[in-house]
Amino acid sequence: MKVMKFGGSSLADASKLQRVMQLVSDEAAQFPVMLVVSAPGGVTDMLEQATFEAVAGQYPNPSFEQLSARLAGLVADVAALKPDAAVALHQQWQQELNRLAQRLQGLALLQRCPDEVAAELLVTGERLSVALLTALFSDAPWPVASLDPRQYLLAEGEPLSAEVNIELSRNNLASVAWGDNRVWLVPGFTAANSNGDTVTLGRNGSDYSAAALAACVHADSCEIWTDVDGVYNLDPRLIDDAQLVPSLSYEEAMELSYFGASVLHPRTIAPIAQHQIPCRIRNTLNPAAEGTLIHARTEPSKSLVKAISQLKNQWMISVSGPGMKGMVGMASRVFAAMARTGVSVTLITQSSSEYSISFCVSAEDGVKALKALNQDFELELKQQLLEPVDVQRDLAIVTLVGDGMKTRKGVAAQFFKALSQAGASALAIAQGSSERAISAVVNQDKAIDALRLCHQNLFVGRQAIDVVVIGAGNVGIELIAQMAEQQQHLQQHNISLRLCGVTNSRNMVLRAGGIDLADWQQALAEGEPLDMPRLLSFARDAHLVNPVFVDCTASGEIASHYLAALESGWHIATPNKKANTDSMALYRQLRQVARQQKRQFLYEANVGAGLPVIDNLQGLLRAGDQLHQFSGIMSGSLSYIFGLLEEGMSLSEATAAARDKGFTEPDPRDDLSGMDVARKVLILAREAGMELELEDLTIDSVLPAEFDASGDVDTFMANLPQADALVAARIEAARAEGKVLRYVGAIDVDGNCKVEVQAVGPEHPLYPIKGGENALAFYSRYYSPLPFVLRGYGAGAAVTAAGVFADVLRTQAWQQEG
Ligand code: ADP
Ligand code: ASP
Ligand code: MG
Repeated sequence: MKVMKFGGSSLADASKLQRVMQLVSDEAAQFPVMLVVSAPGGVTDMLEQATFEAVAGQYPNPSFEQLSARLAGLVADVAALKPDAAVALHQQWQQELNRLAQRLQGLALLQRCPDEVAAELLVTGERLSVALLTALFSDAPWPVASLDPRQYLLAEGEPLSAEVNIELSRNNLASVAWGDNRVWLVPGFTAANSNGDTVTLGRNGSDYSAAALAACVHADSCEIWTDVDGVYNLDPRLIDDAQLVPSLSYEEAMELSYFGASVLHPRTIAPIAQHQIPCRIRNTLNPAAEGTLIHARTEPSKSLVKAISQLKNQWMISVSGPGMKGMVGMASRVFAAMARTGVSVTLITQSSSEYSISFCVSAEDGVKALKALNQDFELELKQQLLEPVDVQRDLAIVTLVGDGMKTRKGVAAQFFKALSQAGASALAIAQGSSERAISAVVNQDKAIDALRLCHQNLFVGRQAIDVVVIGAGNVGIELIAQMAEQQQHLQQHNISLRLCGVTNSRNMVLRAGGIDLADWQQALAEGEPLDMPRLLSFARDAHLVNPVFVDCTASGEIASHYLAALESGWHIATPNKKANTDSMALYRQLRQVARQQKRQFLYEANVGAGLPVIDNLQGLLRAGDQLHQFSGIMSGSLSYIFGLLEEGMSLSEATAAARDKGFTEPDPRDDLSGMDVARKVLILAREAGMELELEDLTIDSVLPAEFDASGDVDTFMANLPQADALVAARIEAARAEGKVLRYVGAIDVDGNCKVEVQAVGPEHPLYPIKGGENALAFYSRYYSPLPFVLRGYGAGAAVTAAGVFADVLRTQAWQQEG
């Protein structure tokens, strides 16, 4: 005999039920089939909810209304397919509904519901599936029978999560006259206890019914038909690129289901493993797929780890205290208390000093567990031999499973690295003595990130970077174009760089799955209004693996969100100088928060656009160098403008030309006032360890003092010719001495910082620097008397975006695994 079990999703409507009938008929032509069915999807939830509402005194209640409509719909649809069976089916389910209504009414009066009564109500959905399939099989070419598990499956323990006694159930089933029936229909989830009361095998328990029945009748095989192709290496709802696992050993499957892979009820494997019955997980919607075979052998796998799972809603309870050291039998007393109250313990760790025992229980059992401990250890707690029992709530257990883990080293190291990249601290760890599973307890809100990073590091080997670009101006547009251009190259290097969001000053578009790089402008135009709080929480809400907040604006307002961005899990990469030149207090705080959050705050393009200024300076300082003096041309726009002035162009013409080329800041006054260069000097000085504020710098503006630079950008540009004559006179005076004007930023030996227009002759190193070039000379302990010099283009969207791009790629927190 073959056992075939179909889950709720395979039975959700009449057409799916028909498909099930077809699949079973094909099998039944060859083997007798025991067909175990769940309730149609969602029906058990409605039954449970209707019961809660009744116990709360509500009858009629909305869930019952919903349930009645659903049942009536299913019955009507199936009846329409099988007119011969229609009358009986309608009558039977009208009676069932009436009975259900009476019971719920009774519960509403009593306002309580014993578990045995709840069990009886909850299994109604499974009986409905049997009735619907019986109708569909009414004209099958061979006999179909049904079996009531309450007469045969004997279960013990909690009435709502009872455990089947296989030996006794097998004896009961031995009395069944199997005859020549080809299909035996059995409602899953359902059993009876020794008093004859109906009990359930726990939510999702039809898998377990099938396995128990397979063990009892010594089935040749057991198939669990569901809505996915088999067991994946991670719940496919959590990740797009989960991979199907072709086969698992019984032990692997047991660990996986126990630690939360909801594709199988945790008790399913034990009975079939004990009787060595092969089990296959298959997809009702894709019967051609092989599925996952669960059997006695371990198949070698490319990866040491076969799959990852999470067990949600856990509490961790810790019993500790000075009295525990050497107290014989503490552990057994703790766990006896749990056993006595029927609480199942999911994970245990004990400190080596024996000073504490910590263990996890499901949140549902938490209060019960605490009560039991406080009762059983009342005396020790009173005498302060034990500290008050400690509880941590809202936890999840993340587990790696694979038979191969025991033969190779290093899996634990990879596991903890992934947890740390996800920002999930392991509150406790446990490894079974079989070394087949390793688990860590983490905060629930970090669990999905932890799972995704484990998946990425252990299976995919590809590193993800999820970027949101703030500001779709010159630099933002160019950065996205560079991202598009580099896609193929990055993929070859196993980097998956996605654009998950873009904003401009009005709109934003956020897409966890990534935005098409060829179509982002359209997506942004159709986006929603900019909503900074939502954007900041997007990294967490969408569980982005390695989120980078790329600020391509020059806005102080956007910079004011950096702390919140770091705290919300974002790395920051930006050419925007506003944050780094705000107060020294903020400067320090940004670095401190970045360190605490294990995020990177990257701003290479703050100085010298794409030139690797910050990176080199940091490298030198880390290696023990000290900055003594600095001087340089650090503004690509002013380098360009002064070059044109030298050729005879007026200030207003030269500024307009620089602006057209995208060399200036959005407001050219930031360049001409010297403020932009001053910010760069301040950033370098702070980088070198000086504690300065912007007010401490001496700033000499390019604009003459008597010129009125007020108004908006366009007004300013329109008025600028009024400054031309004064600037031209300064140029002329320098030329008379054989010199040119250069706009220089400097830090002197005493740590004074200034930015000023200097007249330099042909012998001066800055004389040839123009046309948008930057030159930076660092005089340091190691580089003296000849400075360390960086020279190259320091303005323009392309080089600035390239500098930001390099920062974005620096956020990859890990090296590729070998
Ligand atoms: P059924 O109604 O058929 O019993 P379930 O919803 O109980 O179906 O189980 C199937 C679901 O289990 C899948 O849709 C999937 O989302 C979830 N699941 C969790 N972990 C895994 C995993 N590792 N592999 C496959 N499915 C998984
Ligand atoms: N119908 C039950 C539930 O929803 C059992 C099952 O689906 O396996 O929990
Ligand atoms: Mg299920």
